[in-house]
Amino acid sequence: MTAPRLEVDLVKLGHNARTLVARLGQRGIAVTAVTKGTLGCAAIAHELVRAGVAGLGDSRIENIEALREAGVTAPITLIRSPMLSQVDRVVAHADVSANTESAVLRRLSAAAVTQGRLHGVLLMVESGDLREGILPPDLAGVVDEVHRLPGLRLDGVGTNLACQSGVVPSGRNMGDLSHLVATVETATGVDIDRVSGGNSANLEWAFGATDVGRVNDLRLGEAILLGREALHRRPVDGLHTDAFTLVAEVIEAQVKPSLPWGAIAQNAFGETVAVRDRGEVRQAILALGRQDVDTGGLVPPVGIEILGASSDHLVLDTGTLDLPVGAEVRFGVDYTALLGAMTSPFVAEVVLDAQTCS
Ligand SMILES: *Cc1c(COP(=O)(O)O)cnc(C)c1O
Repeated sequence: MTAPRLEVDLVKLGHNARTLVARLGQRGIAVTAVTKGTLGCAAIAHELVRAGVAGLGDSRIENIEALREAGVTAPITLIRSPMLSQVDRVVAHADVSANTESAVLRRLSAAAVTQGRLHGVLLMVESGDLREGILPPDLAGVVDEVHRLPGLRLDGVGTNLACQSGVVPSGRNMGDLSHLVATVETATGVDIDRVSGGNSANLEWAFGATDVGRVNDLRLGEAILLGREALHRRPVDGLHTDAFTLVAEVIEAQVKPSLPWGAIAQNAFGETVAVRDRGEVRQAILALGRQDVDTGGLVPPVGIEILGASSDHLVLDTGTLDLPVGAEVRFGVDYTALLGAMTSPFVAEVVLDAQTCS
């Protein structure tokens, strides 16, 4: 089979999604499954929908268009603010988009009127992480504006933490969000149905809180795809962390000294590499490199160590293992490695059982 390839286990993904839907459902929280790590892979999206998620979320309109093209009909939220240059595509293919800017809302409204559609707006609120978000005192004014603009309907209010500054979702900031929602409803007379409290960094709060307040939705990517929460990257109880496996092929296998010889300067990436002499090692080179994946996010099998990575070569110390030319090595991936591997045209996606993504 072709290499490098990213193997996707749909059974494990379905299990992760189903488990989170059930556990959060007990707390009154629905799951929006975030597919941005999967580059619009329809087989994965279909599996998540079958697992009972309330809808899908993606940060790229291109991925959403690919999902629609492949027949995915579930509600999809564009979870990054639309570019002005893409508002027509957003209205045509996404049911809802996350928004913070009046200029974008006005253009979405015009596009929706032209297309004869009603576009949902999820207004993102700043809760301290200092990425996207309307400042809380300004929310009521923007809710009013959405309410008045033709072609738009207020889908709800959301916030996002832990991405830019690592701010932890807590009883305090989630409580503030619930309180803000109630205050704005009173001030504007507009009902706010969906309150989307955050991402995979919110799980500890969601499972531990005595009261989740008005929060009734979480947008989960990493927890579903990789089975980990996003504050400490700990595995979530009962979830699979190995639904994705990156497989690469050996192109050179030789016993070599571990110390380089000759004068030493920077390597191909401007780094000065410190090496320790450990005598001769079994070195294997894989046809995989930084052009394909963030190699720092690869988890090698037990007994194998990654010695270095350039654009096209991954160098391994295979310990006591004898890996001949043509052998395959299987790696676990973190979120960054997953994003890179999915996006690289040199890495094939192989969905177990379904064969391909579409
Ligand atoms: C990526 C993203 C998510 C999902 O984050 P995970 O940590 O993968 O669960 C949710 N919301 C927004 C706005 C995002 O950009």
